[in-house]
Amino acid sequence: MKITRHIPQRTCVACRKIRPKGQLIRLVRISDGEVKVDTSGKRVGRGAYLCLVEECWEIGLEGGRLEHALRTTVTQDNREQLIKTANKLYFSAKAEKFKKDFP
Ligand SMILES: [Zn+2]
Repeated sequence: MKITRHIPQRTCVACRKIRPKGQLIRLVRISDGEVKVDTSGKRVGRGAYLCLVEECWEIGLEGGRLEHALRTTVTQDNREQLIKTANKLYFSAKAEKFKKDFP
């Protein structure tokens, strides 16, 4: 008998790849429409997921896919804040390159 353990899977809004939840970063729209990086993965609100891959953040943030998924408009300030947070939390080793991609 095959025992399968249920691993929650989510889709990256940028590349549309389905991955185990733990490999994706959750972004959540809070009440006033602002988008935050959800480090706990448990914040209440409409959520969307991005891979831990810089390209996906570029596509997600610049291509409007995140906005579409979260049904909100991401302001320039908010976008910069998300990039800053992502850099600090996830891309610090490559932060310089990442910043260059988002002048
Ligand atoms: Zn992706």
